[in-house]
Amino acid sequence: MSKQRAKLVVGNWKMHGRLAENAVLLEAVAQGAGALPESVRVGVCVPFPYLAQAQALLQGSRVTWGAQDVSALTEGAYTGEVAAPMVADFGSSLAIVGHSERRAYHRESAELVAVKAQRVLEAGLTPIVCLGETAEERDAGKTEQVVGEQLDTVLAKLSSGEAARLVVAYEPVWAIGSGQSATAQQAQDVHAFLRARLVAKGAGEVPLLYGGSVKPDNAEELFRQPDIDGGLIGGASLHDQDFLAICGAAGAVSVTQ
Ligand code: PEP
Repeated sequence: MSKQRAKLVVGNWKMHGRLAENAVLLEAVAQGAGALPESVRVGVCVPFPYLAQAQALLQGSRVTWGAQDVSALTEGAYTGEVAAPMVADFGSSLAIVGHSERRAYHRESAELVAVKAQRVLEAGLTPIVCLGETAEERDAGKTEQVVGEQLDTVLAKLSSGEAARLVVAYEPVWAIGSGQSATAQQAQDVHAFLRARLVAKGAGEVPLLYGGSVKPDNAEELFRQPDIDGGLIGGASLHDQDFLAICGAAGAVSVTQ
């Protein structure tokens, strides 16, 4: 008899959504999540302007919410920045940091991502730290080197108690939005590597999410892997039925067996 870990499924809406369509999606997800087994936790990370809407519509449901980024700064004359405590003001529990789109399009360094993770923790939120290699890096056999350095840069700034409060998402860049997910074995191999690093830091229980073209038809096989504790879901999180089907797949493999 083995017991699978509890699962966590988080939607990353990216820069999608408008008030009217969000309301329909949030209400459907809140309602659908109510039918999931207790062993599945669900969250959504929405654009900043919609945090208040997420709070209004998700409060009291099984779905938590949060942002897709925070500033590395705390407060002051930094036009356009959003500090982690501002995200917390809206009842959030989550904030993504280090998504590959921010690393690529906004030139975010591993060091900056690590500071952002600290800011999120200081605000009492859970950072979802995204890591992942490009196709070129994988082809060059550098996957472990790349994701290892990305993780180590964050862990170096944290105590083991702080590290234990992270969520880590392995998201191969080539799998994001491409329709080409990593295979379950490819993902499991990287997750096992990351797990060993977290164990060495005294944070072996950190949930390790896989992200990159997770869909209803591949979610269960991915979530069945021993070191995959759930998923970070982009495109499919914008469709209530697909997102809830992915959450259901997490439920199917997270029961006591
Ligand atoms: C993401 O951007 O975090 C992501 C996993 O996207 P997708 O599911 O669309 O590949």
